[in-house]
Amino acid sequence: MTQETGGFAALDLNPNIVAAVLATGYEEPSAIQQQSIPIILAGHDMIGQAQTGTGKTAAFALPILNKIDVSKREPQALILAPTRELALQVATAFETYAKQMPGVNVVAVYGGAPMGPQLRAIRNGAQIVVATPGRLCDHLRRDEKVLSTVQYLVLDEADEMLKLGFMDDLEVIFDAIPASRQTVLFSATLPSSIRSIAERHLREPKHVKIQSKTQTVTAIEQAHLMVHADQKIPAVLRLLEVEEFDALIAFVRTKQATLDLAAALEAKGYKAAALNGDIAQNQRERVIDSLKDGRLDIVVATDVAARGLDVPRITHVFNVDMPYDPESYVHRIGRTGRAGRDGRALLLVTPRERRMLQVIERVTGQKVAEARLPNAQAVLDARIKKLTSSLAPLVAEAEATHGDLFDRLTSDLGCSARALAAALLRKATNGQALDLAAVEGEQPLVPSFAPRGERTERGERGERPERGDRERRAPMPLAEGRVRCRTALGARDGIAAKNLLGAILNEGGLARDAIGRIQVRDSFSLVELPEDGLEKLLSKLKDTRVAGKQLKLRRYRED
Ligand code: ADP
Ligand code: MG
Repeated sequence: MTQETGGFAALDLNPNIVAAVLATGYEEPSAIQQQSIPIILAGHDMIGQAQTGTGKTAAFALPILNKIDVSKREPQALILAPTRELALQVATAFETYAKQMPGVNVVAVYGGAPMGPQLRAIRNGAQIVVATPGRLCDHLRRDEKVLSTVQYLVLDEADEMLKLGFMDDLEVIFDAIPASRQTVLFSATLPSSIRSIAERHLREPKHVKIQSKTQTVTAIEQAHLMVHADQKIPAVLRLLEVEEFDALIAFVRTKQATLDLAAALEAKGYKAAALNGDIAQNQRERVIDSLKDGRLDIVVATDVAARGLDVPRITHVFNVDMPYDPESYVHRIGRTGRAGRDGRALLLVTPRERRMLQVIERVTGQKVAEARLPNAQAVLDARIKKLTSSLAPLVAEAEATHGDLFDRLTSDLGCSARALAAALLRKATNGQALDLAAVEGEQPLVPSFAPRGERTERGERGERPERGDRERRAPMPLAEGRVRCRTALGARDGIAAKNLLGAILNEGGLARDAIGRIQVRDSFSLVELPEDGLEKLLSKLKDTRVAGKQLKLRRYRED
């Protein structure tokens, strides 16, 4: 895909489309575009597999625009997308690429908006319909003929559509479109469910696959940092001081966490907002628009709320909470480094999540290097650098406008120029710590962990998938002949050590000194018991209840 291949102009597209694409600033087609456009133009069915951010939208939108008969005012192309955001994004892309093709009408059809205007827009001559499957099926129920003129069908992000449960809706839609259509399917992954759809509904499809490894993560610089779960917010605040970002998206797992982190960021003066599933749709769109145009710099989002979000300004992705699987890691960090730009992705890892980090490294085929939290010196340097660059444009001119005032003030105050300048600096920096001792004093974080490889007992043992960081305290070494047993009852069930002790003594018939340490955590407890006769003891305790709940004590293996 070098200039010699002729770029977009060599792709046999309508010159008006090429002109519009070049006007948006694209210089040459991406790999998926280069390969898909000729296939779609030639009328073949196609399966395109490529990761997020590879330019799939234009890969189907450009050839489809080329095929539309503008003089016919009826639906000719249907694009299905998993979410309202993506449908809107694709519809907007079509409009952009069709800027120099008068008469092309695009309508987006999705849930959460009134059906009437959508149906009217379709009937009023939209040639291109971009829809979410669920809402489109609602329309089909009202008017089963609404898709009868469609000749081109695109399934965008097919894997996501299936994950969201749209399988049945897709079948209904396939049935409502003439069989003579051309069908194109794009997906980041091709699980068997997608292959079976392709077998049933595509005709001799051509395959295009863009290797994900080189596409997704190479332009993105990745690093991870070890932190305790309860120190994530201070860690993020510290990182933000030194990272030079334009716009940033921070991923967390829960709605509450989006609110907490966004509030902490706002309190520090960042232009930040939360994005989660509870936030009304139109408000979500406002947040994304604000991030695009710079009214916001940071969005704190859950995976669902950020699906498909495409904001070229994003230079940084902070994985504040671990993603649930490696695929969503790749998906998340694909929010930056869009279209070949450089991006940076940071991942916060708590000790128990080390294994997930290894899985991510295995799946992406890349090492995610360990970084350290910036120390006080680095924070100070960054603050001074920011101050310097904010003053730089002023020093050239301020003397002309404020020089006389400065002379007057030094004379009125009877102080040196240095003393006045220092007073002004203090005022301008608003109490911010700007010497090393002061910066050190404001950093409450404990030092991070031993690097990977140096597994400490504290870091690795007892890492059960329990919730809450307080529960990560390391178990003590066991005495000879003792084993540790676990129950899912803990403090949150109203359990105290003495309840466990009492129950085991009474029902197990053990001597007091046969029972070792008892540790009660929030969501579980550990009890040290004699290994000798353990099976029998556990079966005696089989039906034991404590605080009204079944004890269900089991041997606990902490490897
Ligand atoms: P995907 O659907 O594969 O995730 P998109 O179609 O959303 O990717 O494109 C990702 C970003 O890349 C968008 O901002 C888009 O405008 C931009 N883009 C697409 N094709 C090109 C190109 N040929 N040159 C430059 N930027 C492009
Ligand atoms: Mg896409």
